[in-house]
Amino acid sequence: MSRSVLVTGGNRGIGLAIARAFADNGDKVAITYRSGEPPAVLKELGVLAVKCDITDSEQVEQAYKEIEDAHGPVEVLIANAGITKDTLLMRMSEEDFTSVLDTNLTGTFRVVKRANRGMLRAKKGRVVLISSVVGLYGGPGQANYAASKAALVGFARSLARELGSRNITFNVVAPGFVDTDMTKVLTDEQRANIVAQVPLGRYAQPEEVAATVRFLASDDASYITGAVIPVDGGLGMGH
Ligand code: NDP
Repeated sequence: MSRSVLVTGGNRGIGLAIARAFADNGDKVAITYRSGEPPAVLKELGVLAVKCDITDSEQVEQAYKEIEDAHGPVEVLIANAGITKDTLLMRMSEEDFTSVLDTNLTGTFRVVKRANRGMLRAKKGRVVLISSVVGLYGGPGQANYAASKAALVGFARSLARELGSRNITFNVVAPGFVDTDMTKVLTDEQRANIVAQVPLGRYAQPEEVAATVRFLASDDASYITGAVIPVDGGLGMGH
């Protein structure tokens, strides 16, 4: 059955791979992008691209209206959009901290809250939040990012309890290091240090994260909620 799926930040990286996975599944997929022009491949995949900055509630509302008009209420939401502003605590400005929280945590709150309206009415829904291994493991220079990603776990688990009786599931995927623009900023030395700690000895490809996300939104995952699923090559084992 073709579902209305929304992936935030689906114009590149992990979000684009997730959008592709659902499109391949035959779902009606919409993505949001914040800047630039969405890549041409989205058109080929039949994916609707809607401009939306998730730090702005009005833009979120507008985006949902556009998506609902085209595809109907969102049945599967993947809250993927996120940013980093890495620096040591001594140098971290309040803006470095609050902007990361506003995007990764409050931005997720904005899109989840809006999706919930239709899901409650439909008495079903699937929500997957993209956290990070760093949320539970920690990362030097990433206090803002780790705090935002750890918070997603409490957010999802609270909603899993609050809305389980409405047949809406909330799960978290915690990727390790994935080959995207976000990790391209790391130096070769940083990259080598990370890979040395990963039992599988390499970065993930975005498609490997997308496959787990697609599973959590599938019928096969109907009894999974409040879970945190690592896709990290073993990096965060035990965390
Ligand atoms: P990218 O930097 O490649 O892409 C980030 C996406 O988020 C872009 O589409 C970007 O839009 C969008 N975005 C950022 N801020 C906003 C905003 N305010 N409103 C709307 N969209 C926004 O990142 P990845 O694909 O690597 O990461 C995707 C998710 O996975 C993030 O949440 C990230 O924290 C998480 N993650 C990534 C890991 C990695 O190693 N890459 C590891 C663990 C988790 P635009 O193109 O307009 O900037």
